[in-house]
Amino acid sequence: MSETKVEETKLEFKAEVKQLLDILVHSLYTHKEIFLRELISNASDAMDKLRFESNKGTEIQDNDLPLEINITFDKDKKIVYVSDSGIGMSKDDLVNNIGTIAKSGTSDFLKVMAESKEDASNIIGRFGIGFYSVFMVAKEVVIKTKSFKKDQPAIKWISDGLGSYTIAELDEPKKRGTLIEVHLKDEMDEFLEKYRLDSIVKKHSSFISFPIKVENEVVNTVQALWREPKSSIKPEKYTEFYKFLTYDNDEPLTTLHRSVDAPIQFTSLLFIPKKNMDMFGYHRDEYGLDLYVRRVLIQHQNKDLLPEYLSFVKGVVDSEDLPLNISRETLQENVIFSKIANSVTTQILSHLSTMADKEEEKYSEFWKEHGKTFKMGYMDYPNQEKFSKLLRFNTSISKDANELFSLDKYIERMKSEQKEIYYAVGSSREAVQLDPHIEIFKSKGIEILFLYDPMDEFVMEALRKYKDFEIKSVEQADTKKLNKIENVDEENKDSVEELSKSDKKHFSSLMKRMQDILGDKVKEVKESDRLKGSPIVLVNPADGISSTMQKIMNIQGGTVNIPPKIMEVNKNHKLIRNLLKVFKANDKDEYITTVVEQLYESSILLEGFLSDPHKLVNRVNSLLENSSEWYTSVKKLDNLEKE
Ligand code: ADP
Repeated sequence: MSETKVEETKLEFKAEVKQLLDILVHSLYTHKEIFLRELISNASDAMDKLRFESNKGTEIQDNDLPLEINITFDKDKKIVYVSDSGIGMSKDDLVNNIGTIAKSGTSDFLKVMAESKEDASNIIGRFGIGFYSVFMVAKEVVIKTKSFKKDQPAIKWISDGLGSYTIAELDEPKKRGTLIEVHLKDEMDEFLEKYRLDSIVKKHSSFISFPIKVENEVVNTVQALWREPKSSIKPEKYTEFYKFLTYDNDEPLTTLHRSVDAPIQFTSLLFIPKKNMDMFGYHRDEYGLDLYVRRVLIQHQNKDLLPEYLSFVKGVVDSEDLPLNISRETLQENVIFSKIANSVTTQILSHLSTMADKEEEKYSEFWKEHGKTFKMGYMDYPNQEKFSKLLRFNTSISKDANELFSLDKYIERMKSEQKEIYYAVGSSREAVQLDPHIEIFKSKGIEILFLYDPMDEFVMEALRKYKDFEIKSVEQADTKKLNKIENVDEENKDSVEELSKSDKKHFSSLMKRMQDILGDKVKEVKESDRLKGSPIVLVNPADGISSTMQKIMNIQGGTVNIPPKIMEVNKNHKLIRNLLKVFKANDKDEYITTVVEQLYESSILLEGFLSDPHKLVNRVNSLLENSSEWYTSVKKLDNLEKE
C-alpha cells in the first residue's frame, strides 16, 4: 500500500480555542492537578471506543495490545508521559478534535466562567474541552499518536498553547494509541513525584474501568463499584463515585443502588444531584445514563434509559443480558433494553415516593431543585398515578408561597360533599388571591391549588383526574355544585339587604342594558352566585377553553383573540347597587355605559388579554376627573377656598 507522507504543517488554533488557551495559560488555578484527570479521561474514552470497534468486528491495528493507561515521568527533562492503547488519531482527527472545538463547549465555558464564581479547574471537565487544561501546567505539549485503522502513519503534534501547533509524520516507530508528553512549566515539579501522581489518580480517576499504571504499578482498584455488593460499599465510596461521574463538588442528594435478577438481570447505580446541574441552561443535551454490558461501557449518556423528565438523574446501568456487540442504533429496538429502561423509571419513581414519605425535607429540597423538570412527566401515561402522587403545590391554605402540599394531602382535607379538585392560575400568590373566581371557594372554605407556572396548567389539563376526583380550574367550576356546600364565613352572609321585588326586575333590565353595551364581547350577562368582594367576574362558558390555553393559542397564532365570556354580576356589591339607582332614574344614562365598559376591560386586563390600554386609561382618567369633582363637593372644599 502506498502511503503519502504527512508533510510538516503549521496551523493556527481556531479563535475560540485561542481565547480559551489564553485564559488557561495566564490565570491562576487552585486545582492544576486536574489536567491529569482530563488526560486520563480522554485515554479511557479512546479505549472504550476501541473496545467498541473491536466488539463490532472491525479490523484493528496492533490487536493484541493490552488496554491500559500508563503514566511515567522524567525528572531531568521535566516531562510527564501519559499513554493509552485506544483508537489513536489521524492527522485529520488531530486538526478536527484538538485544533477545533466541535461543540459550543468553549463559549459555554467562558459564559459560565463569567457568571459564576467557580474556579475554572472545577468545571472545565463538564464542557468537553478538558484536553486544553494541560496548558495550565505545560509550556509545551507533544502528542504522538497512531490510529486503530490499519496502515495509517503515526503522527506528531506539537504546541506551546500560544496560538498555533505543528503536525508532522512521526519519525519513530509507534504502536496503536496516543502518547501525550507534558513538558512542565517551571515550578511544576510536584508532578514529578510518584506519590503525588498516585494520589491524583486515586482522588480523581479511581473508577476508570481500565488499569492505570503509575511508573508500572496499578493504582486504581475499584473498577465497577455498582457490581460490588451493596452491603460492602461505604457511603463515602458512593459519593466518590458520584463526584467522579458528574464533576459535581458536592455530594448527591440521594443514591439508589439496585440489582435486579428476574426477569432481566441488570444493576443500576443512580444519583440525584443536590443542585440542578444545568446551571445556565447550557447543558440541555448533557443527560442520560452510562450503559454498560458486563462491565464494558457501551454508551456514555444514553438518552433512552430515562424519560426526559427524569433527566436530572445521573448514574450507570449495567446488564448481563444485552449482547456486547449491540450497536447504539439498534438499542432502542431491543426488547430487553426497553424493559430495563421501564424498570429504571419505576425504580426512580418508587425511590422518590419513599423519600417523599420518609424524608419530607429532603423531598422538598428535591422538588425545589428538580420539580420544574419533573413536571414534564405528565406525558408518561403508564406511570401517571405514581407521577401525580409526587407533585407538589402551593395552595390557598399554605401559610406562604413556600409551603407545598401533595394531592393526597388535598384530598384528605376535602369537604365531604366536594367531588372535584380545584386550581387557580396566576403569576404569583398575591395575584391569585385577588382573582374574583376564588371568592366563592373562600366563603365555602374549599382549598384551591395555586398554580404559578404556565406549565402547571398543561399538567392539570393532561391529568384531568386524580384518584376519583376530577381536576377543574376555578373558572370552570360548576357553582351549583359549590353552592350545595355550607358557607364558612357566616358573618357576612346577611349583611346586605335583599333587593325588593321591583328592584329585582330593574336589576334584570340593568343586566339587559349591560348586555347591549358590551354586544358581542360577552356571550351573556347574568346574576352571579359566586361573588363576594368583586362587582363582576368574567367566566368561560362551559364548552369554552380556559383562559391560559387561549393565551397560549394567541401567542402561537400571533393574534389577540378574546374568547366571548359570560359576565356574572354581583347584585349585592355597592357599585352595582349604585348603578341600579342611576339606572332607575334614567335607564339611558351614559354613566352606565362608561362604568360597564370599564368593568369589562378591567377584568380583561386582570386576565392578561388587554392588548391596548389607551381606551382604558382615558376612561379611568375621566372617571377620576369626575370623582375628584364629587369628592371636592362632598368635602365642601370649594367653599373652604373662598373663605
Ligand atoms: P472531550 O474529551 O470532552 O471531547 P477534549 O478537549 O478533552 O474534549 O478532547 C477533544 C477530543 O480529542 C476528544 O473528543 C477526542 O476525539 C480527541 N482525543 C483527546 N485525547 C485523545 C486520546 N488520548 N486518544 C484519542 N483521541 C483523543
